[in-house]
Amino acid sequence: MNYRSTRLTAPIVTSAQAILNGLAPDGGLYLPLQIPHFDLTYLQALSYPQRATHILQAYFDDLDPVALKEGVETAVKRFDTSAIVPVTPCGSQWLLELDHGPTAAFKDVALTLLPHLLRIAKAAVHDDSVTHILTATSGDTGSAALAGFAGEEGFLIDVFYPSEGISTIQRCQMTTVNAPNVSVSAIHGNFDDAQNAVKKVFEQAHRFRTPLSSANSINIGRLFPQVVYYVSTYLDLVNAKVLSMGQSVDVAVPTGNFGNILAATLAKLGGVPIEKLICASNTNHVLTDFIATGHYDRNRPFHVTSSPSMDILVSSNLERLLSLLGGGERVNTWMKELNEKGSYTIDSDLLHTIQATFDGEWITEDEVLMTIAKAYHTDHRLIDPHTAVALAAAQRHPSSRPMLVASTASPFKFPATVLHALNQPVDSDDAVNLHRLETISGVECPSALKASLKAPIVHTQTLSPSEIIEHLLRKEKP
Ligand SMILES: *Cc1c(COP(=O)(O)O)cnc(C)c1O
Repeated sequence: MNYRSTRLTAPIVTSAQAILNGLAPDGGLYLPLQIPHFDLTYLQALSYPQRATHILQAYFDDLDPVALKEGVETAVKRFDTSAIVPVTPCGSQWLLELDHGPTAAFKDVALTLLPHLLRIAKAAVHDDSVTHILTATSGDTGSAALAGFAGEEGFLIDVFYPSEGISTIQRCQMTTVNAPNVSVSAIHGNFDDAQNAVKKVFEQAHRFRTPLSSANSINIGRLFPQVVYYVSTYLDLVNAKVLSMGQSVDVAVPTGNFGNILAATLAKLGGVPIEKLICASNTNHVLTDFIATGHYDRNRPFHVTSSPSMDILVSSNLERLLSLLGGGERVNTWMKELNEKGSYTIDSDLLHTIQATFDGEWITEDEVLMTIAKAYHTDHRLIDPHTAVALAAAQRHPSSRPMLVASTASPFKFPATVLHALNQPVDSDDAVNLHRLETISGVECPSALKASLKAPIVHTQTLSPSEIIEHLLRKEKP
């Protein structure tokens, strides 16, 4: 399978090269030349790791299939359930429980596998150099990337998180990771500032001796492992006789950088009978406005919300959707306009294609709290604020089809917000909040989260976005 850039002006590359490059040299994102189609009847009888191996082999057909299988098997061992992604009822909806990995958020699904994919890709191109992984995070990518790469031979990793917005536990999950190949820095500003600064470093990659790569969802090694759970949970519901094979479903996804919902789109294009995709946003509702009007506009106030991993005004993977659905060479112009004036407007033909599949909804902070409370009191489910955004959006969509909702993080990553929603006292210390939430709910907190709150903090530096490049270049000195 070969890959092209969304901007259509970079060379066509193999999947190994696309994984190693991260971003295409013309600034675009990689897409496969053909979209793989899946044999659902064949996959139905398989386990999660077997399905994952099969699906990933279709995208990464130039990688060693045995090594890929072993990589998948090693990655899934880090999950706390053999189902890997259980699918369970919440009222009349179905939750895809994506929070069973080492850092209790959905990004673990891909980031437990990414080090293996990079290693296999390096072997495919006979590259034995050290790779420097750069990651801008809105909260969850950083810790999941650290869980994947800390202590891994052949990799250096730098994580940059915004100084404001992320939860105490999210911060502790990063600043307590102690390994010689790890560096974690706070960045003055918000996620977009951090992401932009890291993108600028990639534009200057020639200044570095060490090859740079990204653990952000711009990398196809992040994207395709996420396709697996949309295929697999659909088949689990068929096996449980909740669905009949071929029956249509809708899927609601709490969306930030548009990676998770793009994976759902690829599952749909690969033959999973998904009818509508509900793109759920918080008060940073650039995407809701875009899906309604075709006008993308990042020139607006940035809100710090209770769902920080969705506090994003530039959703990188939307570029992939525009290209997949026929944007062609126009994508280049739109991305240039986004870069230069912060906005662009797509043509009505493409807008109608998008609207045929996507519904955008945005959810207020009050609705997030009410949704957490209702899920707890009525449906006996403890959910996190990101999941609440998607669940609230799903509940606005009366549909005759079963509704699957991506549940993207453990509620124990955001105990203050969840306690507040449940009308409980909130402490200034998240360790107290976490314990209180366990006590009132009777639900056990993932042990790794508790451990990170107690561990010593080893990374304390804060940089301004303009200092990132110097910080990284200093490491190059012998
Ligand atoms: C990253 C994240 C999201 C947003 O996913 P995207 O792929 O960036 O759209 C939603 N919820 C949680 C908990 C996350 O960590």
